[in-house]
Amino acid sequence: MSRLCYGQLCDAVRMAATARLAPRERIMDMAPPDEHDRTLVENVHPADWTNPAPADRYNLVAVGGGTAGIVAALVAAGLGAKTALVEQRGLGGDCLNFGCVPSKALLRAARAVYQASLGERFGFRLTEPPQVEFPAVMDRMRRLRATISRHDAAARFRSVVRRFSSAAR
Ligand SMILES: Cc1cc2nc3c(=O)[nH]c(=O)nc-3n(C[C@H](O)[C@H](O)[C@H](O)COP(=O)(O)OP(=O)(O)OC[C@H]3O[C@@H](n4cnc5c(N)ncnc54)[C@H](O)[C@@H]3O)c2cc1C
Repeated sequence: MSRLCYGQLCDAVRMAATARLAPRERIMDMAPPDEHDRTLVENVHPADWTNPAPADRYNLVAVGGGTAGIVAALVAAGLGAKTALVEQRGLGGDCLNFGCVPSKALLRAARAVYQASLGERFGFRLTEPPQVEFPAVMDRMRRLRATISRHDAAARFRSVVRRFSSAAR
């Protein structure tokens, strides 16, 4: 890494560490959050988070705490590198918050409904066709996402995570 690039990354961490926090209610665009979403936000963007004092130099700064940034930061820190992870919104990125996890929860519900229609193949018959309650489907999705979010929780990365809610520039 060139010296210029290295300095820019350190500047980015410093700027992020001194910038103002964005309103928490805008972090996940959730209105109003239910108990599952509150758990999710407390894991991926905790209200009581305080940034460690920025170091002068880092071996690695990961900009973005999605799958890529988390893995890169954890592996680097595990190898002994001085590492910072900068996330502007919520740890877990697209995969946890909007992509893989929510979509698979919805797909699983759709598969369950479809399989219920195959009863005769398996030796049972429903007296009525299954009624989908979409709010319940979404509630299940939010519950699963909140449970899984502990794997991406800021508390797990306290030694490497520097900052939330300020975009690194
Ligand atoms: C509907 C859907 C379903 C998917 N299903 C699957 C699946 O089943 N399996 C699979 O492997 N993949 C799946 N994906 C793809 C997966 O979500 C992405 O491959 C993965 O999230 C990419 O990770 P990433 O870390 O590169 O980026 P992201 O997850 O996008 O994370 C980037 C992070 O960087 C932060 N950020 C951005 N700019 C800045 C900045 N300037 N300063 C600080 N932080 C910043 C963002 O807030 C974000 O948290 C799915 C995606 C979608 C949309």
